[in-house]
Amino acid sequence: MAMLEIRNLRASVEGEEILKGINLTIEAGEVHAIMGPNGSGKSTLSKVLAGHDGYEVTEGEVIYQGRNLLELEPEERAREGIFLGFQYPVEIPGVANSYFLKAAVNAIRKHRGEPEVEAVEFLKLIRERMKLVKMDDNLFKRPVNEGFSGGEKKRNEIFQMAVLEPTLAVLDETDSGLDIDALKTVSEGVNALRSPSRAFLLITHYQRLLNYIQPDHVHVLVKGQIVRSGGKELAEELEHSGYALFEEDAA
Ligand code: ADP
Ligand code: MG
Ligand code: MG
Repeated sequence: MAMLEIRNLRASVEGEEILKGINLTIEAGEVHAIMGPNGSGKSTLSKVLAGHDGYEVTEGEVIYQGRNLLELEPEERAREGIFLGFQYPVEIPGVANSYFLKAAVNAIRKHRGEPEVEAVEFLKLIRERMKLVKMDDNLFKRPVNEGFSGGEKKRNEIFQMAVLEPTLAVLDETDSGLDIDALKTVSEGVNALRSPSRAFLLITHYQRLLNYIQPDHVHVLVKGQIVRSGGKELAEELEHSGYALFEEDAA
């Protein structure tokens, strides 16, 4: 059984169809990249997977670990091990990162019938994962994302992912707003978290993230449809030719 199976997914926003029949199968251990021009529906796909209000699925299904994902509440999706990258870069004034993360870790543990994380164990986990993604001590102690730069928010997001140990991570536009050093750190974080039991769906407009993260599969999304799928060489091809070629395909 695949970890995630998207079948003929159609979705509308405010009555307008944005996703026009997406098919995608992701197996445990795989890294998939979805690339596409602005407005092609990349963020819409991630929001449908997250269960955001206002994104209406009109056809098709999404099966996650054998369950109908679309029936689960957004919080349930998180507890079931889905991490959505854009979900966290909200600022939470006055709430320390440490407090936020501990609550999140405990929600997942409770869901699995496990006891709450002990203070010492939590600190150990935090230290280890901070090192993994080169997270600054300072950032960790500050309120969640308050006054963080774009790059700091993204680093924090990857750090949160490292602590939450998701089964499936969906990262939308992870490379936007990152300078090259931050991009490398984030990529190293993702690479360090790759495992045979975990899968990633990287959604990006730019090819440069894929210079550091080698995807197993690359898909080109144009006008709400996957017009081409291939290996990492497809990303390289896009770097040279741009999206114009594929836009003709979709028209
Ligand atoms: P991408 O992430 O590939 O740039 P999006 O999924 O953000 O594309 O947007 C795809 C299309 O859906 C665009 O035409 C956009 O204007 C429209 N769209 C997305 N979200 C909304 C929304 N909340 N309200 C109205 N239109 C939306
Ligand atoms: Mg495969
Ligand atoms: Mg987008």
